Amino acid sequence: MTAATDILTYDLDALRDRVMPETSGTVSDSIPQLAHADPDLCAIAVVTIDGELRTTPDADAPFSIQSAAKPFLFALALHDTGRAALGRVGIEPTGEAFDAIKLESGTGRPPNPMVNAGAILTSSIVDGGDVDARTERIVSGLSAFAGRSLEIDDDIAASEHLLGDRNHALAHLMRAEGTLQVDADEAILVYARACAVLVDAEALATMGATLAAGGVNPRTGERVVSREVARDVISVMATCGVYDGSGRWMREVGVPAKSSVSGAIVLAAPGVLGAAVVSPPLDERGTSVRSHRVSDRLSADLGLHSFDV
Ligand code: GLU
Repeated sequence: MTAATDILTYDLDALRDRVMPETSGTVSDSIPQLAHADPDLCAIAVVTIDGELRTTPDADAPFSIQSAAKPFLFALALHDTGRAALGRVGIEPTGEAFDAIKLESGTGRPPNPMVNAGAILTSSIVDGGDVDARTERIVSGLSAFAGRSLEIDDDIAASEHLLGDRNHALAHLMRAEGTLQVDADEAILVYARACAVLVDAEALATMGATLAAGGVNPRTGERVVSREVARDVISVMATCGVYDGSGRWMREVGVPAKSSVSGAIVLAAPGVLGAAVVSPPLDERGTSVRSHRVSDRLSADLGLHSFDV
């Protein structure tokens, strides 16, 4: 038996029931729409690299993708630039919060694509000559990862744009360093829209599975990015995906992942499966408490830890 076959008989509903009594954590209030998220939501979806799907009943509940978009924005930037994006953004963990006002010393580049500065930069270099064209490229690219047409929640995008003072500061800092080559406000507009793309656990798990399958969406058969790009992205998820909790995450869960302020975590176990868990209450590092618990258990029960010998 392998993890991919074990998951076919795994009781995801029982796992969900097991973590539901955990009520610690706080729902983000960074924008009003997130503050209104249901704290009792806890949805899980798993997609194997053969395209098998397993879900809990809430796996079709919509939420804004927020920072879980970052690996896929990096993937699209790598794809669209023939991997030249690797020269535009660092790949070292920061040990700091997701929105720290800090760039790589010496180069003025964002430290890595999994923090806000990095995602503002990667979303500025995807194909497209203006804000709308880049937005369209991002929505169609994320949709190809998800295997279905995704849409932006315009109210969430507007709030993100209006209330993202630290993101505006980061964009202006990168302009001053010469590393952001588009207008700062336009960069934030595109990044805010990318954060506001609506997904559900099923779509996000499929996105993770597309990376885990080396860039081919296992449910549609479409090659979305090259194998090299998928490997680049998963590597950086492993080292930087959970912000200043990345080291602890890799030791405990051992599966490359990306957390987000909406309470979602997307996981990519290379050559095995992708998964997504969403539950809004967050710990002090901005990681969903229940999503972390679920990831811990899934990794242990299915033997997914990358460094388990
Ligand atoms: N839209 C959020 C921000 O830029 C994303 C942060 C996150 O999901 O961690 O502040």
